[in-house]
Amino acid sequence: MTSTGAIPQKRTADSVFYELTRSICPECKQLIDGQVHLKDGKVLMRKRCPDHGWFEALMSSDAEGYVNSLKYNKPGTYPVEFQTEVKDGCPYDCGLCPEHKQHTCLALIEVNTGCNLACPTCFANAGPGYNLTMEQVEFMLDQFVRTEGDPEVVQFSGGEPTLHPQLLEMVQMARDKGVRHVMVNTNGLRIVRDREWSERLGQARPMVYLQFDGFEDETYMKLRGEPLADEKLRIVDRLGELDLDTILVATVERGVNEHEVGRLVQFGIEHPAVRGVNFQPVTHTGRHLPFDPTDRVTIPEVIERIGSQTDGLFVKTDFVPVPCCHPGCQSITYAYVEDGEVTPLPRVLNVDDYLDYITNRTWAEPAEEIKHALEGLWSSSSVPGSESLAERFACASCNIDLAITDSDLAKKIFAISVKDFMDAYTFDVKKLMKCCIGIISPDGRTIPFCAYNNVGYREEIREATRLERVKSRLQAVGRSSPTGV
Ligand code: SF4
Ligand code: SF4
Ligand code: SF4
Repeated sequence: MTSTGAIPQKRTADSVFYELTRSICPECKQLIDGQVHLKDGKVLMRKRCPDHGWFEALMSSDAEGYVNSLKYNKPGTYPVEFQTEVKDGCPYDCGLCPEHKQHTCLALIEVNTGCNLACPTCFANAGPGYNLTMEQVEFMLDQFVRTEGDPEVVQFSGGEPTLHPQLLEMVQMARDKGVRHVMVNTNGLRIVRDREWSERLGQARPMVYLQFDGFEDETYMKLRGEPLADEKLRIVDRLGELDLDTILVATVERGVNEHEVGRLVQFGIEHPAVRGVNFQPVTHTGRHLPFDPTDRVTIPEVIERIGSQTDGLFVKTDFVPVPCCHPGCQSITYAYVEDGEVTPLPRVLNVDDYLDYITNRTWAEPAEEIKHALEGLWSSSSVPGSESLAERFACASCNIDLAITDSDLAKKIFAISVKDFMDAYTFDVKKLMKCCIGIISPDGRTIPFCAYNNVGYREEIREATRLERVKSRLQAVGRSSPTGV
């Protein structure tokens, strides 16, 4: 018998199926398979929820860079102690559980949930909730010190931590417990609105991680709900007066402030208080503006814009993925700045070669020492403005002609980092298992940042902490809760 119809043709897929991971459904948050595809030079996540259908999201706008970045995946270093057991599987056993592949380079303590802004974009969904007590923070710090052994960085955050009446005591407490670097993550408003308090902040000397999204009121109206451009400039000047090392932290959103990234870099280089800029494409968790998950801002795009908006002061090859976490999470560069001349370190030293863990070369001294210094710089625990960072920079550049002779080196090193925190669309368990940024919960667990914000930990812990506070207040006045709390 012969067929009279057309022969069915095979179809070619529209993408390269690159790998399989686990993700979550953006609607119901249940754990589902995530397929990573390479298409038209981009990296996409495609996934299907049995209840909500197919989803697609942009993970990276540079497929080649994404694939090549895997060589920077450094073998992890485990914490001294894990805090939970493996029971339900990742991401439900945080943490850290024994399946986790890396210790915590940087730990956040969210001391409150309230804020003096109500940003339309706020992954922490700031609002009524709790203020931690000194006793709670002490317990959390003790747990972190116990599990880390030699804790590197604690960042006090919120809500808006400067509203907490005991924040400065907490900064001192962290230092007394041996935390090497203490940061305060703030919108900065109290620094200019309460001069007496900012004097005290100056004496406490934390590194300031300052929300600073651009120079236009329109940008702040969209991201922060208020026209803050002038006030933000005054905050940076005040931090200069107080001689506090400052990192500008810019949230970058499509169609809002992408055009300001170059100016942010230029401003940071020129301002005496600023040691670096940290760009964070908007994390679409908590509160956020409406967005198209297939048209998100990702790390390569921020880097490309920095290059085009600074006339090539920094270019793509100046940025190297961070090896301590998953290399797709963050890229950093450092430059030496002297008399307005900017020299990115990767232009004079082949950082790439040293941080390539696939080739796994063994180095003789002093190259091994340089590699070690670079690992310290390309880490979430590196703190721009610190002496330890300056020492690593000096060591890494010891074989090259950077004319680094002065004792004020820490203030001449400028850092740019670009971090892409995951949301429910881009959530990738493979990255999460190597996360090196954790939020310490009041019960002492360390929960990787992107798990905390995406799979229910934030909501659960906020409610439990709020109820605990209600209970202890009622006990203090000798009453019990009518709801049995
Ligand atoms: S993210 Fe890490 S700590 Fe949390 S469940 Fe997964 S492996 Fe364990
Ligand atoms: S993003 Fe920061 S400043 Fe804005 S509401 Fe949230 S906690 Fe407050
Ligand atoms: S916080 Fe998220 S983006 Fe950052 S290292 Fe951890 S998993 Fe990666």
